[in-house]
Amino acid sequence: MVYKNKLVQKNISKEEIVSFIKELYPNNDFIPLHAPRFSNKEKEYVLDTIESTYVSSVGKYVDQFEEIMCNYTGAKYAIAVVNGTAALHISLILAGVKQGDLVLTQALSFIATCNAISYIGAEPCFIDVDPVSMGLCPSSLETFLQSSTFIKNEVCYEKESGKKISACVPMHTFGFPIEIDKLVAICSKFFIPVVEDAAESIGSTYKNKCTGTFGLLGTYSFNGNKTITCGGGGIVVTNDENLGKMAKHLTTQAKVPHKWNFFHDHIGYNYRCPNINAALACAQLEKLEEIISNKRVTANLYNDFFMNSNIHFNSEPNHTRSNYWLNSVLFESIENRDLFLEYSNTNGVMTRPIWALMHRMKMFENCLHDGLKNSIDIESKLVNLPSSFRELNSIVNE
Ligand SMILES: *Cc1c(COP(=O)(O)O)cnc(C)c1O
Repeated sequence: MVYKNKLVQKNISKEEIVSFIKELYPNNDFIPLHAPRFSNKEKEYVLDTIESTYVSSVGKYVDQFEEIMCNYTGAKYAIAVVNGTAALHISLILAGVKQGDLVLTQALSFIATCNAISYIGAEPCFIDVDPVSMGLCPSSLETFLQSSTFIKNEVCYEKESGKKISACVPMHTFGFPIEIDKLVAICSKFFIPVVEDAAESIGSTYKNKCTGTFGLLGTYSFNGNKTITCGGGGIVVTNDENLGKMAKHLTTQAKVPHKWNFFHDHIGYNYRCPNINAALACAQLEKLEEIISNKRVTANLYNDFFMNSNIHFNSEPNHTRSNYWLNSVLFESIENRDLFLEYSNTNGVMTRPIWALMHRMKMFENCLHDGLKNSIDIESKLVNLPSSFRELNSIVNE
């Protein structure tokens, strides 16, 4: 990997890292990995939904949430849903994924990506990640597609199983954008639609364009641990008018609009985002840029601290702006990683290893994969460090 040959000038101990983190987040007995940050706006908007009685899936904040997301991301359509997993599920249905199909994705991801694929009865097929972005690697994808698939009538099939490959779901790990333009170009050569899992990368850009807006569809999560949160919520974005309309239709029980009749023309889902959550989302979105700037300052401080040391700090790939949702480092070995996890977590600093790779779960252990060399290396060495917004003065007010 690229960072192996770098100059090691200092050895940093686990004690030094923990004291550094305590300096970054002073006056905390316990430092969480990522805490949400609220101010008076959130209270005001949520209270407004309660006072209006419109707390459920119809209301002005749902419309505003969608409008703000269109404006912010540049996508033509944004559909607010109950969470990021539901956003992925609906997007995969709209991309044309069917039972028995294969969906290309990373083994190095949160399990929601694979769960959404499984809800349809499709199966994930795991491609390795890039060592710098930690997201789906375009050249590994191209190697797999060239060696293991064939195309018939503009449909891509996996050679051994004969199964259709009906989508590719890259994920922008911890907010680091992958080389999404390259990946989309490769997928289109093989007639494979791209659904971007941008759950972790709201506000991150690749060549000045928001992650989530390169593929046919993109999804975001507003879960409590993400960069901004609305308790639970998600967004589907697309530039395709039919898909945008269908996303809204399918997530509202596929009810045919009528003044009073109940008639439904598809199997629909109750996936619409409630107004009370959308209110929280609108307030959080007003502060997104401030939150990202603050998090980027913290990432810089971590970067300086780990510079030229035995521990590698993961910094944003070229041509990107990362939201630095979760900062991460790579230890030299799994033993050193575990010593640090033990020490930090018993000393009031929450740290976590990366997710176990998906092909290690019994549900996905028989899925196809390409060897996953970089994924396995990262899995054994990575630790996420506290990454919450840092209060630079103690009073939060606006
Ligand atoms: C958080 C997350 C999701 C799911 O989002 P929820 O809102 O929790 O359902 C999906 N994919 C990835 C990579 C995530 O990190």
